[in-house]
Amino acid sequence: MANGKKTIMVDREVCWGCGNCVEACPFNPGNRRVPALWMKYAPILRLVNGICSVVSNACSELLPDCRACEKACPTGALRIL
Ligand code: SF4
Ligand code: SF4
Repeated sequence: MANGKKTIMVDREVCWGCGNCVEACPFNPGNRRVPALWMKYAPILRLVNGICSVVSNACSELLPDCRACEKACPTGALRIL
């Protein structure tokens, strides 16, 4: 991530749909840790059919150092490259 960009990868074979990553993300609409203005980028992660899906990659620009979702994932399914 030399240029500040990051790519969020989810291994759908390993994700068990716990939702920890969705909850941990500052862009979770229920989370008030970031300015309301940024909520136009929300959500970035969501559960679709019980599996984590990456909806957008806006956090690459807005929170380039955040790795909260990766840290919250108990299975290693979600990785940030
Ligand atoms: S890196 Fe941070 S801002 Fe981006 S999806 Fe994960 S928890 Fe959300
Ligand atoms: S925290 Fe990991 S296992 Fe849980 S929903 Fe997110 S990617 Fe899947």
